[in-house]
Amino acid sequence: MRKGVAVSPGVAVGTAYCIHEIFVDPDAKRLADREVTAELARYEAARDRVGAELQALQQKVGKQVGREAAAIFAVHEAILRDSAFTNRVRGWIVNDRLTAQAGLHRLLEEYTALFARTDDEYLRERLGDVRDVVVRLSAYLSDVLKPDSTALQGPLIVVADELLPSQAVALGDVEVQGIVTQRGSQTSHAAIIARSRGIPAVAGVQGILPLVKTGDTIVVDGRSGVVVINPDAEVLSAYLKLQREFVALQGQFAENRDLPAKTADGVPLAILANINGVADAEAAAAMGAAGVGLYRTEYLYLTHHDVPDEEEQLEIYRRIIKASPGHVVTIRTLDIGGDKTVPFLGHAHQEANPFLGWRSIRLSFENPEFFATQIRAVLRAAASASEQDQVRLMFPMITTLEEMRRVRSMVRRSEQRLEREGIEFRRVPLGMMVEVPAAAISLDTIMEVADFVSIGSNDLVQYLMAADRDNPKVSHLCQPLSPPVLRVLRQIIRTCNAGDKPVTLCGEMAGNPHAFLLLLGMGLRQFSMSPAFIPRMKKLASIVSCKQAEKMLASVMELKTTAQIKRFMSNQLSTLAFDFSLLESS
Ligand code: PEP
Ligand code: MG
Repeated sequence: MRKGVAVSPGVAVGTAYCIHEIFVDPDAKRLADREVTAELARYEAARDRVGAELQALQQKVGKQVGREAAAIFAVHEAILRDSAFTNRVRGWIVNDRLTAQAGLHRLLEEYTALFARTDDEYLRERLGDVRDVVVRLSAYLSDVLKPDSTALQGPLIVVADELLPSQAVALGDVEVQGIVTQRGSQTSHAAIIARSRGIPAVAGVQGILPLVKTGDTIVVDGRSGVVVINPDAEVLSAYLKLQREFVALQGQFAENRDLPAKTADGVPLAILANINGVADAEAAAAMGAAGVGLYRTEYLYLTHHDVPDEEEQLEIYRRIIKASPGHVVTIRTLDIGGDKTVPFLGHAHQEANPFLGWRSIRLSFENPEFFATQIRAVLRAAASASEQDQVRLMFPMITTLEEMRRVRSMVRRSEQRLEREGIEFRRVPLGMMVEVPAAAISLDTIMEVADFVSIGSNDLVQYLMAADRDNPKVSHLCQPLSPPVLRVLRQIIRTCNAGDKPVTLCGEMAGNPHAFLLLLGMGLRQFSMSPAFIPRMKKLASIVSCKQAEKMLASVMELKTTAQIKRFMSNQLSTLAFDFSLLESS
């Protein structure tokens, strides 16, 4: 049994599928002369298989997500076909009697040493692509990783160090029932993907990969953060029962997707979805969302081999608008930096404090041409919505009034240029995200130049608590239900409501039943969350009145610790008609 951070609720039992970095047997012997030809053939067969796999991925992702997202696999295919790459490995098999896997490992080490000497971040990023190809080849050569082996029948639990965006896209290929990662926490990429698909997940389980083999039976408890490898019969049957209950409960909640979004006393709410791409927009519609409250555009950039141009962006934004419920979408400009980098924006050096550094809107300001391209694409795509104000544009990490003013004038300039060029576009409401404490404190002044406000509680909590949202060692501090965070949230919501400024919360806490009730008590009426959480939050809203929520909030504001607050809210929830405990992450 291992413990990590519970990042997506529910219980899953299934067959482990390990995504290793390249796995090289340290005891592997040198090949005997007579084995060389067979090893070369094995290597060629692996190349053929990987080539076919990459082509299939290009087609599949191209169709489902779009050409831009598929491009990364074309880059990988080019690396695979590169003769320098292949000839080196062949040479080591023949001359040094290395196994193909050991050859690939040596190649990666050579590239790593070579790339470490360059300051060119774009080149360094390419190392990640070389690694991706080597890992794929290695998977075919290794006995422990055969994606088509019979060990991989039935529901799979993916076990990985951390999921890369490209791996997350590829996960659509298999029936994934659970995710376990060594790194990451609540708000890392794998966690967000898991929640948006309603898959139980545990992150930050350090040192689990060496303990699990592909084919092992594994339990993921996304409520407590517990992972059990090869459980005994008794434990297994207990978890299988929980899994059945979880699946039944999911079904039961899914039936609530068409409920009107309103409280027991009839107060209407907007329950919106957070999405990363077209497939999520479709999931949002299927789950009964009223619209999209946060479209994270960075996914489009992270999976693109170079800069997505205006036409490519226009196409994808139009598709998103078309697929979103009611064609209602809030598009957020690129929020990159911190932990995520895009090669073409020239990250010249590794920053000492990336989360406090050159990220998000700060990076967009430094690349005005690039920023303007995104703004133009959004304004043009908005013209395809049938009504005014269905498409909104939102800016992340706003810290000062000057920044919001600057954003406004940049948008105005883009509109003027489009007008001059005679290109069709539509003016859209411009919003600010509140995720920096400074902006929360000065919100009354900054929001005067914003048409709406969206609370990015994932970042706001990490900055308020000075605790990295992706570091499992400090996740006990990075808690949305802590007294100081609740005070700040209440303040923000009061300020917006008093100033008649529309306000949404789009951090992960919107989908947490405890937080949802407290936010309701604070006067919040618009929530944006992972699509999978929408039906159950509609159900929860329908059985609670605003008065009840206000009463709960008043009691909670008297409590002094996070533990007390969680305990109090758990008790409150258990008195309501539904048992939410299976769906809670502790
Ligand atoms: C947030 O910070 O709460 C948010 C919604 O943005 P992201 O998780 O993409 O940083
Ligand atoms: Mg954020």
